[in-house]
Amino acid sequence: MVKINENYLKLPGSYLFSTVAKKLAEFQSANPDKPVIKMSIGDVTRPLVPAVIEAMHKAVDEMSTYEGFRGYGPEQGYDFLREAIAAHDYAPRGITLQPDEIFVSDGAKSDCGNIGDIFGIDNKVAVCDPVYPVYVDTNAMAGRAGDYINEHWSNLIYMPCTAENGFMPEIPKEKADMIYLCFPNNPTGVAATREQLKPWVDYARENGSIILYDSAYEAFITNPDVPHSIYEIEGAREAAIEFRSFSKTAGFTGTRCAYTVIPHELKVNGTELNSMWNRRQCTKFNGVPYIIQRAAEAVYSPEGQAQTKESVAYYLNNAKIIRKALSGAGLTVYGGENAPYIWAKAPDGLGSWEFFDKILNEAAVGTTPGAGFGPSGEGYVRLTAFSTKENTEAAMERIKAIL
Ligand code: PLP
Repeated sequence: MVKINENYLKLPGSYLFSTVAKKLAEFQSANPDKPVIKMSIGDVTRPLVPAVIEAMHKAVDEMSTYEGFRGYGPEQGYDFLREAIAAHDYAPRGITLQPDEIFVSDGAKSDCGNIGDIFGIDNKVAVCDPVYPVYVDTNAMAGRAGDYINEHWSNLIYMPCTAENGFMPEIPKEKADMIYLCFPNNPTGVAATREQLKPWVDYARENGSIILYDSAYEAFITNPDVPHSIYEIEGAREAAIEFRSFSKTAGFTGTRCAYTVIPHELKVNGTELNSMWNRRQCTKFNGVPYIIQRAAEAVYSPEGQAQTKESVAYYLNNAKIIRKALSGAGLTVYGGENAPYIWAKAPDGLGSWEFFDKILNEAAVGTTPGAGFGPSGEGYVRLTAFSTKENTEAAMERIKAIL
């Protein structure tokens, strides 16, 4: 009889977003006269910018001709996009990447999840708490996480990120082989400085560990002391893989394009991780559509840069409105300065879900309970800047009125 991957049976239900959605829907049907404003959405709301749309149209037209038609493309991405990424996202920061160190993909989610394919099952994995759930669940599926007991995976190293440590994980006492770091962070919205990242790179090099660095939100960085890439830290080329995405940078959440960087220096016992990932991608992935890669390339044109930066600035202004309103109402808030997420402490000792319920029932505003991202998220809610300015302002007026 066929055997299934029993690790899947250990996974707890992913209740967070479905429970949030259910509660919002229930409230709405019970209160049809109070439209809920959703400050819980982790998806962009602004349309693709004109430069991107124009490039897509052009690529669609090319596909209609014998000369311009493209079938299977390179699994790793077209050179025009890999070169544009190296030239625009890295070279200006003093980072030299060869195009073959960049692997274009359909999402940072897939890459963060799939990267485990090239690592052994007996590696010890360290994750932040709270955390983007993909790192945890994909390691659980692979069998690296152990058993799920009392809301903890027995084999994972949890690195609490709390107000006390400024939401920066501390280097774990137990030796970690694979370390997931995400800055600017989802859900806390906090970004790491060069000084905060350097010890991680040193640790990884000293211990032969690898940092899996998710910088999906780098476009939101405003503070010049905050690095956009882990490779701005000396020695990181020998210690880290970096995941990037066009999703939040350029509104590609539904268009799907991202990339992963694996420098050639990254080796385990002489084996290059770059060639292992190349092998993995060539076997299991057939590339991102030509039309989408041309759209992504257009993000780097002067018009594309100006237009996408304007969108990011729009969201960051929403984040500012949220920060100002909530702190003005007496709440302690974090994040939102280099990220589209605001992490707000619940008042009066309320738990995450209690505060979520209060804001929903009394103000008709949707948030995301912090506890859903991990035990250390208890006592917080996450609000996102992915909304219109008008709705953001209206939601803040409503929340201020109940606090
Ligand atoms: N990484 C983090 C930290 C995220 O929050 C998200 C999406 O919310 C992703 C990756 C997913 O990116 P993509 O849309 O490229 O799959």
